[in-house]
Amino acid sequence: MKPVVVVGAGAAGLGAALRLARAGCPVQVIDGAAGATSLSCGAVDATPWEDGDTALRMDGEALRLLEELGLYRLGGAVLATTAGILRGAAGADRAMLDVKALPRGAVLVPRVEHSGWDGGTLARSWSDTEMARACGLTFTAVDATILRFREERGLCDADIAARHDDGARLGWLGERLREALGRSGRCVGVILPPWLGVEGPQAEALSERVGLPCGEALAALASAAGRRFERVRDRALSRAGAAVRRGWVRRVAASPWTVELEDGEAIEASAVVLAAGGLVGGGIAYDPSEAAAGGEVPEGARPVFRMTMAAPGTLGARGRPLELPGSLFGVPPESIAWPFANDPLMDRVGLLVDASGAVQGAPGGLVACGDLVADRPRTWLEAWRSGVRAGGTLCAMLLGRENVDLHDARG
Ligand SMILES: Cc1cc2nc3c(=O)[nH]c(=O)nc-3n(C[C@H](O)[C@H](O)[C@H](O)COP(=O)(O)OP(=O)(O)OC[C@H]3O[C@@H](n4cnc5c(N)ncnc54)[C@H](O)[C@@H]3O)c2cc1C
Repeated sequence: MKPVVVVGAGAAGLGAALRLARAGCPVQVIDGAAGATSLSCGAVDATPWEDGDTALRMDGEALRLLEELGLYRLGGAVLATTAGILRGAAGADRAMLDVKALPRGAVLVPRVEHSGWDGGTLARSWSDTEMARACGLTFTAVDATILRFREERGLCDADIAARHDDGARLGWLGERLREALGRSGRCVGVILPPWLGVEGPQAEALSERVGLPCGEALAALASAAGRRFERVRDRALSRAGAAVRRGWVRRVAASPWTVELEDGEAIEASAVVLAAGGLVGGGIAYDPSEAAAGGEVPEGARPVFRMTMAAPGTLGARGRPLELPGSLFGVPPESIAWPFANDPLMDRVGLLVDASGAVQGAPGGLVACGDLVADRPRTWLEAWRSGVRAGGTLCAMLLGRENVDLHDARG
């Protein structure tokens, strides 16, 4: 059988590739660069800004494959962010400290000289939140020498996190935290900058050493969580036998399915999964007609978004193809983006697909998932769910049975 080509290796592409590979389909993943999944911070939600108790609308395969990945804990969490608030989430990377799981009491916040971490301000800010009061928690900043070398003060979070993959260094961190706890009075947990491992989450190992739950705060863009996703993803794809290569797809054509890369190579496929992400991942571009105009009047009006690769299918929102703007220059940017518009086009634009993930208007064998799809929440769990679902659709088409038992197939 020719391979199924999966374009994109974020949460959606990974879910699809694992679903297909584990059912016995040969899989070729092609990925350009870091997308939204690699940039996200470790919270996983099904709908945006949920408070953590939203039921997960994932079928059994999606949940089972996610558990096997071993990186995320589901079931609702409350996370402390480096922006100084507490927020709910449907789940989180296992390195994060779920403050909801702590007994009432004080949480130690190390005060450490690092450009990205102001322990004193964070402790005050977290303590002064409704959620902290509801959980019966206060946050206490305590001086702690948890950086070992002077140059680490300016090192980015993910690079420090990588140092804690080393057991000896993690042991050193545990000793410093025990010393700090000795000076702090009774605490119920320890919250740290996003420094707990890149190869995998080291929070559990650290908690054992310290004797209290320890975990990371939820950081902003491009923290260690994205690197952990990439490591876990690469190992999972390799274990499943999926082939992976770096490269940018520029065209997907039907009869037979052919995927053309930027370097000119063309790969024939039995089917194709489009998991190229949205505006962050690179699958969709904001490209109003005025952008091409220079000093001249644009030649004609065109939709303000376009797919970055040529492929069958239609970009749309609210179930309909994108409309042409009334002006040659496109639409005012603030009319398509939050917080200026409610339910904005920017959060909805994507490929129009049916409930199985099949791309509307395309011949059979082309599915899409994740942030590339119209009208679905731009969230981690939705990307994963839709990826596994799209993989299942192709299993049904190629192998004749959708619910291939993954455990049988693996054996
Ligand atoms: C900063 C940030 C914070 C976030 N926080 C949260 C949160 O708290 N909770 C939550 O649930 N969600 C959050 N999200 C959203 C969530 O991360 C995304 O919805 C989800 O990861 C999208 O996954 P995806 O696989 O669809 O796309 P992506 O992860 O973007 O993957 C798309 C992949 O396709 C590749 N690609 C694109 N075009 C091509 C091409 N032509 N050829 C080859 N490869 C290509 C890209 O390189 C990329 O690797 C956050 C996102 C960001 C950016």
